[in-house]
Parts: sequence; C-alpha cells; structure tokens
Amino acid sequence: MTALDQKAKSKKVIFLDLDNTLYAYKPCHRYALNQAYSAYRKHVEKISWRTFLAFYEKARFRTHRRLRGQAASHSRLLYFQNMLETRLGRTDFKKSLLLEKIYWQAFFSRMKLAPWVRPFLKRMKAEGKRIVVVTDLTTELQMKKLLRFRLEKSIDAIVTSEEAGAEKPDPKIFKLAFQKARCLARQALLIGDDSQKDIYPLLEFIKVLSVV
Ligand SMILES: [Mg+2]
Repeated sequence: MTALDQKAKSKKVIFLDLDNTLYAYKPCHRYALNQAYSAYRKHVEKISWRTFLAFYEKARFRTHRRLRGQAASHSRLLYFQNMLETRLGRTDFKKSLLLEKIYWQAFFSRMKLAPWVRPFLKRMKAEGKRIVVVTDLTTELQMKKLLRFRLEKSIDAIVTSEEAGAEKPDPKIFKLAFQKARCLARQALLIGDDSQKDIYPLLEFIKVLSVV
C-alpha cells in the first residue's frame, strides 16, 4: 500500500489499531454470535435468533452504560452473564463461561489478517521503525489475537485500554503509547479504522479498511 508507505516515510513510530484494521471485525462477530446462539438454544432456552439478538443487545447496552470507557465494557463474559441473569434470575456460572468460550473460539476461527498488513510491517521493520499496537479491550484477548496472526515478532509493544485504564480517544492511552514508543505525537503515524477514536493532537491518522 504505497499511500501508507508515503505517510510513514517521515515517521519513527507506527501505531496500529487492531480490531477492524488488521482484520474485518464484523464477519467474525456475526459468526461467533451465531455459534453462541446455537449453544444458548441447546443449553438455556429455545428462542428465535431475533429474540436472542435483542437479549444480547440489551445486556451489551447495560454493561456498556455501567462501564463506559473501560475495557471491561466489551467483555463478552459480562454480556452473557447479564443476559442469563436477566433470563434466569440468578448467575449461571457454567453457562456464562461456556457462551463466552464458544463465542471467542468461533471468533478466532474466522479471523483473517488483511493482506496489506504483513508486507507493510515487514517493510517498516526493515526501515527500523517501531511498531506499537494501540487498542481498546483486554490485554489477554488482544495478545491472543496478535499471536493468532503470528505478528508477535513484527510488533514492538502493545498498549490496551485495560492497561491504560481508558479507551481511545482518551489521552491516557495515547500517553502510555508514546511512553512505550519513546516518541512524540508528531513522530508517529496512527493507522486505524475509526476517525472518532483513533485521534490525538498532532498524531497523524490514516484510515484504512481491513477489507481492502
Ligand atoms: Mg478499530
């Protein structure tokens, strides 16, 4: 991707968003939720896909509202726990954990690295640039995603919202990223998919779509 290379030319550090930048998020999520639905039908109650989706969205909304701006606001375990609590009137430990496990297993099985990523990182490494992943969500999951893509050797560091205590675009997460990369905002390029979140003053942003 020559436009990316052009932008990166004068920079010391490349910040990379993860979800929906290095891979397409939607197909993974749709498939994962479908698999969780099958397990829900089998182990909890026989409801329609539409009803399941409505329950899931309600649980997600409640969790988001309570934990706004924190990594845990995206926790699928909390969504399923909340969904089951609402339906059953108590916490179902095993089923909450089971649905979460099925969701992420299915999600990971569908993740496909966007074709531009590996060659781009190789070129950037060859030019001696530092690569730092700056991402919302929990460290364990994000590390596992990068391992799944076998990108661990191409990446110098990761900063997650769990670690920073705040999500993008909060300055906290970017400040930690600058610290780890030992650079100033103007020395870095940020590659991401979200112009609302992947922003920081003087930090140059380039939008990419994982699907291209
Ligand atoms: Mg993203």
